[in-house]
Amino acid sequence: MGQSVACEKKERNLLEKDNRFNNRLGGILLQTIWGQFLQIVKEEAGSRVVETWLKAVRMHHWDPQEQIIYLQAPNQFVKQWICSHYMELFHVHLSRLFNVDRIKVVFDKVSEQTISAQPSTANALMITGAVAPTFAQNKPGSSEKGLVRARRRPSGRINTAYLFDTFVVGPSNSLAYAAAKAITQNPGRLYNPLFIYGGTGLGKTHLLHAIGNEIRRHHGSTMVLYQTADRFVNEFIHAIRFDKIHKFQSKYKSIDVLLIDDIQFLANKGQTQEAFFHIFNLLHDSHKQIVFTSDSMPKAIKGMAERLRSRLEWGLVADILMPTLETKMAILKKKAELNNETISDEVACFIASRAISNIRELEGALIRVCAFAHLMDQPLSLELAQKVLLNESTHKKVALTCEFIAKVVCKYYPYTLNELRSSRRSKDISCARQAAMYLMKQLTDKSLNDIGHFFNRKDHSTVLHAVGKIHQLRQTDTDFNIKIKQMEQEIMR
Ligand code: ADP
Ligand code: MG
Repeated sequence: MGQSVACEKKERNLLEKDNRFNNRLGGILLQTIWGQFLQIVKEEAGSRVVETWLKAVRMHHWDPQEQIIYLQAPNQFVKQWICSHYMELFHVHLSRLFNVDRIKVVFDKVSEQTISAQPSTANALMITGAVAPTFAQNKPGSSEKGLVRARRRPSGRINTAYLFDTFVVGPSNSLAYAAAKAITQNPGRLYNPLFIYGGTGLGKTHLLHAIGNEIRRHHGSTMVLYQTADRFVNEFIHAIRFDKIHKFQSKYKSIDVLLIDDIQFLANKGQTQEAFFHIFNLLHDSHKQIVFTSDSMPKAIKGMAERLRSRLEWGLVADILMPTLETKMAILKKKAELNNETISDEVACFIASRAISNIRELEGALIRVCAFAHLMDQPLSLELAQKVLLNESTHKKVALTCEFIAKVVCKYYPYTLNELRSSRRSKDISCARQAAMYLMKQLTDKSLNDIGHFFNRKDHSTVLHAVGKIHQLRQTDTDFNIKIKQMEQEIMR
């Protein structure tokens, strides 16, 4: 009797502990652990794996007694893919992070079961050690036709897939592209250093490798080195620790073209900055070409010694901005073509017009759509793309009608529904109409033709133009962007 009371008490304590973890601290702790896990996977398997497959997964519950971690994937397809490709990463790293021998991973029932063609799965899929192929399976030539490359490139290696030919030029990146191309004609003489900056996933590393490839092609004997700034820091620390500073310096002194990626990682590393400063001077004085990339312009990098910062600005500073809808579509088509796929304008427009913040995410969406098409042996249609991507949206897409959206838009402009649907063409009414078209494309699965039809337009190109225009305006006009967000919220409420 006494024993059973003790047992119950113990169980209650464990349960309370479990509840405490999952209720009070749990949210924050789980979020932190998930963040750490993603960081590890990024380092081990590359950011593409994280962007493409893991970002949309939610870790929502931890059961310490059973040592089970509960996850939720946006759809069956993503769940299946993770289970068959990345499970070992989960076991190895989450076991360590939760401090248990071998964690069990359970995917909860997917909330919206839009992909009915999936192999049947139980409501909750328990994965044990037996189902554990590693991410190394994910190699070119697999069902993804080489779109996913999981492993990271070793330090200093130039990626031969990143060429000028595979880089799509648009208004957002034309200066950086032109400057990068120009220096390959005459390295060290034109823009030195060249400094390219822009947000993450917008093509800086691609351009850096393209420079390296092009120079190697034209000037075979030239010594080109690609290095990320964080690896440079590690190399420097290693050299100091093992008394190899002389070797370190002579390596960099012998280089003809130095390509440094993500120079912002040198911030607050005083001693490394000092070492780099001398290398920079030496190379620059001998007309050796130096190219930097960074997430912000030199002025905005905090923790950088003034004399180094000023050198970063010596040559040409070129930015890369978020691409326009047309450029995004062209990139999607190019990426598809490189992988022997073809995608229609309609599919490209659908993927490109989703709220995607960089090209890496765009590629991720394309990869998922292509992978699904191959897996299911189906054509790459708009319907298929919608099936794969729609319920991954942060918004819950509901059965919204064009009319409902148009009515909400009318509240924000001094027009009636009939006026909005008319052919009147003053600047303000056109903008309202375009905003409505944009929101319809974003928030419903209506085709360009359906939306055109609602506005009595025969041609889908009017809608395509509207989507592009509003997409662009959102980037440049903060007030307008806020207005669109308010409309979105009201529609989705
Ligand atoms: P960043 O270094 O700015 O974070 P990356 O160079 O790694 O971005 O680009 C992320 C992905 O997007 C890469 O696969 C790259 O090939 C692709 N990408 C970015 N911009 C373009 C472009 N203009 N044309 C073709 N691919 C692009
Ligand atoms: Mg980069």
